Amino acid sequence: MPVCWLNGSFVAEQDAHVSIFDRGLLFGDGVYEVAAVVNGRLLDADRHLVRLSRSLAAIGIPDTQPTAVWLDVMQQLATQNGVHEGLVYLQVTRGVAERDFPFPAQVVPTMFAYARPKLLLADPNAAGVRLLTVPDLRWQRCDIKSTSMLAQVLAKQSARAAGAFEAMMHEDGLVTEGGSSNVWIVRDGTLCTRPTSSDILAGITRDVVLEIAHEAGVPVRERAFTVTQALAADECLMSSATSFVLPVTRIDDHTIADGAPGPVTMRLRAAYLARATRLTQ
Ligand code: PMP
Repeated sequence: MPVCWLNGSFVAEQDAHVSIFDRGLLFGDGVYEVAAVVNGRLLDADRHLVRLSRSLAAIGIPDTQPTAVWLDVMQQLATQNGVHEGLVYLQVTRGVAERDFPFPAQVVPTMFAYARPKLLLADPNAAGVRLLTVPDLRWQRCDIKSTSMLAQVLAKQSARAAGAFEAMMHEDGLVTEGGSSNVWIVRDGTLCTRPTSSDILAGITRDVVLEIAHEAGVPVRERAFTVTQALAADECLMSSATSFVLPVTRIDDHTIADGAPGPVTMRLRAAYLARATRLTQ
């Protein structure tokens, strides 16, 4: 029986309950993180927890749980649930209070986390995925990893309904990011992705890919690109904590280059996998 962690205790998932007055439920008033588990160990969880603290600060939820406690909870969830490869999800909401939009006085944040298995190293999507372009309908603080995600739910549902793996969101033709990933292109050997701002989430995987690219001598340009430029790119790829680096071989009904995963993409994926394996040994 899967075990989760809720407000300080490990409990069976089926016995974990939160109030209907939780502001996460009422308003999407909360933030979250997802970190990968490889070889039974957390990958880059410290970086995810730095971003959690930033998200909490951005929306004024007290950051009460020390990083060391979160790390222990996350690792215990992976271990207790026998998750050798997969993810740990964690969420913090503002807490339970009578429904009223402004922050309630004296509210205690709700915190929970759970683990799930997922194939990461041998992901069949490494053969190439298709993205569906959709308008980015979100708000102006996409840098906060908020649980208010109706726009992404709709974007990713459109992608799924069209048989695509992921949505590629754009503002008037300028690519922002994937529904739950960052998007990149390669042009003339240069890796290109949108610079971080309040328009996108600063992906932890994005940071790691930038580091790997620098180490591998792959030129990088942090610059926004258009949907048209993505369609004409030599390579397109996406990154996230639970997909690592995946080749994008089709966008809408258009095939990228010759339709095969590109060499720079596969080099970055291999380097990402090697790093993940090394750090979790
Ligand atoms: N952008 C969005 C909108 C996301 O939801 C995610 C995944 N949480 C990412 C980018 C990728 O971030 P990370 O590499 O930290 O998983």
